[in-house]
Amino acid sequence: MKHIDENKINNLLADMAKFDRGRLDIILDKARLLKGLSLEEVARLLAIDDPDYLQKIFSAANFVKEQIYGQRVVLFAPLYINNFCSNNCLYCAFRSDNRSLQRKALNTIEIKQQTEWLLERGHKRILMVSGEAVVQGKNKIDYYVESIASIYAADFKGNRIKRVNVNCAPLEVAEFKRLKGAGIGTYQLFQETYHEKTYSQVHPSGAKSDPDNRIDAIDRAFIAGIDDIGIGVLYGLYNYKFETLAMLAHVQYLEAKFKVGPHTISVPRIEPAFGTDFSQNIPYPLSDTEFKKLVAVLRLAVPYTGIIMSTRESAALRDELLSLGVSQISAESRTSPGGYSFSGDNKDSAAQFFTGDQRSLDEIVLTLIEKGFIPSFCAACYRKERTGEAFMKLAKPGTIKGKCSLNALVTLREYIIDFASPKVKGCGEKLIEDLSRELNLDDRGLLQDIFEHVENGARDEFV
Ligand code: SAM
Ligand code: SF4
Repeated sequence: MKHIDENKINNLLADMAKFDRGRLDIILDKARLLKGLSLEEVARLLAIDDPDYLQKIFSAANFVKEQIYGQRVVLFAPLYINNFCSNNCLYCAFRSDNRSLQRKALNTIEIKQQTEWLLERGHKRILMVSGEAVVQGKNKIDYYVESIASIYAADFKGNRIKRVNVNCAPLEVAEFKRLKGAGIGTYQLFQETYHEKTYSQVHPSGAKSDPDNRIDAIDRAFIAGIDDIGIGVLYGLYNYKFETLAMLAHVQYLEAKFKVGPHTISVPRIEPAFGTDFSQNIPYPLSDTEFKKLVAVLRLAVPYTGIIMSTRESAALRDELLSLGVSQISAESRTSPGGYSFSGDNKDSAAQFFTGDQRSLDEIVLTLIEKGFIPSFCAACYRKERTGEAFMKLAKPGTIKGKCSLNALVTLREYIIDFASPKVKGCGEKLIEDLSRELNLDDRGLLQDIFEHVENGARDEFV
């Protein structure tokens, strides 16, 4: 596969056994300086399984996340617009051979309704997700662009979606330009596995069977001017240590070529999916401890990136991962097109996979507050053109933290006034009060001014 030197990674993995534990502290000291880590250093950390050493890695990851982004955790919801697909990825319920899946492509009215359901709960950021197929007789980019317009057009009592990110199959440069023109934030595309042989085995047919076209799509997005991109591995397809190192090699390639690393990294693990035996018999299952370790190591290795944790994972594990480097989480997700109209269980027969955390947005906001995190509905960076290299300049030294914290507090105050349950209102106000006291005088003054506007009905305020 392009940009990935499998021999080099395998050699690093073979060398791990010789690791001198004494060097761990040196590596962690470097990581605490927000300098990131080399492939070799990452290989060393991934080799650790001693619980005491793991705790050291976890606490360093927590430190680094706080240095870069402070206590804020960004919230979003996925919106699946269709589940038709011409690919046959063995792990996915949407694969073309799955005859038992109920197929559906939302039209613009349905997309607006689904968005309004999310707006009514307080969501402000959406990840639009799609299978790869021609639907409703339209070419795919036309369908995406009109779907994005419907999301932005949705309105619940004056509340609008601030930012749509997109996870869809690879496009050509001209198509990416249209996606950018539609006002997207981040374009997300997971390589799934960086191990070439495994890639071919699990993607037997369809356009997705070409791994180079997929990895090159990230370059094409950059070339088209989309400078916030998200990458990821679908963990469970191959050895997690290999995948993590290979993903970092991809990060290094992007940094060298575009001077911009990934805006986000996602770490989905294969979940059971309707009508796919493969998803119930994962070839390389990894334990929760291994999963926590790789998340923490990613935070140390790519300190500036947003690490996304979806509702694939259980509520308890997601809560734990908040202290290990995760900076963005989804909430109240449904993985079927139209899924937000169903009540109750997550096992509907149009879903891509079954989710592990079914808490409501309000319950998740409450948990975040109780743990001392600031739930954030902020999208200020996109509005202020703090994207790509401009964002990296602020994120790498941790300067972005000041803006993130203020904006998170503002969006929390707006959420409290408009959507929160009485319990969230109580502890949310207390958190705002406590954290405001820790601000310097200038920031405290600025925040008070913005809060006054918000009290008087202004919304969507940011710095
Ligand atoms: N169809 C596009 C593609 O494959 O790039 C984008 C959307 S796909 C619905 C989003 C992601 O879901 C995939 O990239 C894959 O990593 C993940 N996924 C697929 N099946 C899964 C499963 N059974 N459990 C967890 N994640 C899964
Ligand atoms: Fe289609 Fe994406 Fe599912 Fe593969 S992962 S079958 S490309 S929706």
